[in-house]
Amino acid sequence: MSIGRVRPTITSLPAYRPGKAAEQAEQEHNIDNAIKLASNENPFPPHPAVVEAITNAAATVNRYPDHLALSLRAKIGAWVGVDAEAVTVGTGSVGLLRQLAMVYIDPGDEAVYPWISFEAYPIAVTTMGGVSVQVPLDGSQFDLNAVGAAVTDRTKMIFLATPNNPTGTAVTTTEIGDLVREIPDDVIVVVDEAYREFVDPSYGDPVQDLLPHHPNVVVLRTFSKAYGLAGLRSGYMVAHPDVIVDVDKTLLPFTNNQAAQAAAIAAIDVADAYQPRVQEIRQERGRMVAALAEMGVEVPDAQANFVWIPLGDATDDIYLNVEKQGVVTRPFSGVGMRVTIGTTDENDRFLKAFAAAVNA
Ligand code: PMP
Repeated sequence: MSIGRVRPTITSLPAYRPGKAAEQAEQEHNIDNAIKLASNENPFPPHPAVVEAITNAAATVNRYPDHLALSLRAKIGAWVGVDAEAVTVGTGSVGLLRQLAMVYIDPGDEAVYPWISFEAYPIAVTTMGGVSVQVPLDGSQFDLNAVGAAVTDRTKMIFLATPNNPTGTAVTTTEIGDLVREIPDDVIVVVDEAYREFVDPSYGDPVQDLLPHHPNVVVLRTFSKAYGLAGLRSGYMVAHPDVIVDVDKTLLPFTNNQAAQAAAIAAIDVADAYQPRVQEIRQERGRMVAALAEMGVEVPDAQANFVWIPLGDATDDIYLNVEKQGVVTRPFSGVGMRVTIGTTDENDRFLKAFAAAVNA
């Protein structure tokens, strides 16, 4: 039953499913010491200077934050090498994704994206009454030719998560550029780089490689992952200033709170100090991939802070078995399971539980 005249679009919309909390798994299976490797979070706490900035910001929350977060925009612009007018910030990059859909999608308009990909895409599109055109992956990789071929005169947007969530594979800026040249220049191409900092640099930098040539390319990034600020919700977008003006019209008033703005500014100030942590996660990722290969489990190229294990029909059973051993991962029923890279101990726990589950 619904109260009020709920839009049919919303009635049929599946709610977003976040990764399961460790506490919930403990209750469900009556176990202790569960760990969560389900939401691609950073296992390390923020840098002390960032924690200090958050603490200081707490003292001024009787005031509204700067609605436009102008200091943070200027800071990001200088950091990534663009004018502040080419930057906006949002409630995580997922908030900016919603804003982009509000700006570009009218009922019946199409958004094209590879699938499986980030589960927030269909929600952003459907919420606006748009139609998702989901292009099957080629194995675990994007088929960008098929993405280009799926573009019609109703297409308003393309979403490309690189690396992709959940498969972890990435595409180069050269490959994206080839696609962009092939499609009409009024189709907005969203390059979603939530996991950019974990990617091999040879994939290129869309801000430098694509934005100067293609005003219809929009780049999304976040402080949630590499900078460990998932709990504060701070993401940013780099795009042509005209795109920024329209996206800013949809900004929920004051959505970027004081603490989030202060933390992001502080994180940029100590960005170099995050490098060893990012490096450690990349090393652990390599160790996980190698350990899985030793078990005879081949995984696709992993460019983010997680590994994707395609398990097909065995997914649900193996996932549940691993979870009952106290390791919460993220299942994609009938397709595979996504495992976030945690600390060395956490990763060892996963490997042990997974080995037991596949041999069960
Ligand atoms: N894009 C992708 C591909 C993601 O996986 C995520 C996080 N799950 C996001 C965007 C959103 O991250 P945030 O809103 O925390 O910036």
